[in-house]
Amino acid sequence: MSERLKTISVQRVRTMPDELRPSVLYVSKEFETAHHLCACGCGAKIRTPLGPTEWTLDETPRGPTLWPSIGNWQQACQSHYWIRKGEIVWAEKWTPQQIARGRQAEELRRATYYEKLYGERPSLLARIWHWLIALIGR
Ligand SMILES: [Zn+2]
Repeated sequence: MSERLKTISVQRVRTMPDELRPSVLYVSKEFETAHHLCACGCGAKIRTPLGPTEWTLDETPRGPTLWPSIGNWQQACQSHYWIRKGEIVWAEKWTPQQIARGRQAEELRRATYYEKLYGERPSLLARIWHWLIALIGR
């Protein structure tokens, strides 16, 4: 059984190295992404794109904070943890329902962001519908 990590620190890179070391969060501002090895020690490479709809990286004097949490549902280990001020904070193992809800929240976060960005526009379907109503009403 591999060892769960407790801490992580930032290393700035331009391009991601092929071999990642545990306990290091590789951050590339150029490519707006961060990579690290899964904190459970399983060796899986975890990629977290950085951006307004993705993960947010905050560097504190004690270490990096990455938000939201990291849920490695695609990995065999299904690890779920936060990186907070350089520390790995482990979450309880999620049930399939919680995983689904987490994904929904992620989708909602993106949708809300784009709505704010582009304003509320009627969907194509709504526009066609109004056009049809207008046509029939003539
Ligand atoms: Zn893992």
